Amino acid sequence: MGYSCKGVCNDFKGEKIPNGSRYLYGQKRCTLCSIFLMVQSVRCPCCGALLRTNPRGKKQ
Ligand SMILES: [Zn+2]
Ligand SMILES: [Zn+2]
Repeated sequence: MGYSCKGVCNDFKGEKIPNGSRYLYGQKRCTLCSIFLMVQSVRCPCCGALLRTNPRGKKQ
């Protein structure tokens, strides 16, 4: 509830990784903003949603 993309995520956007999993490079995906982020937090600095840290949602 109340999560929304404010465009702040663009400031934390992860760099493009050709032919590689961005998760391996420590990037996390915000499903709400539909963007990969380079952040330490487990939450999106933009919308506050929990970030995905691995491709298939496997338990770590
Ligand atoms: Zn956003
Ligand atoms: Zn977000």
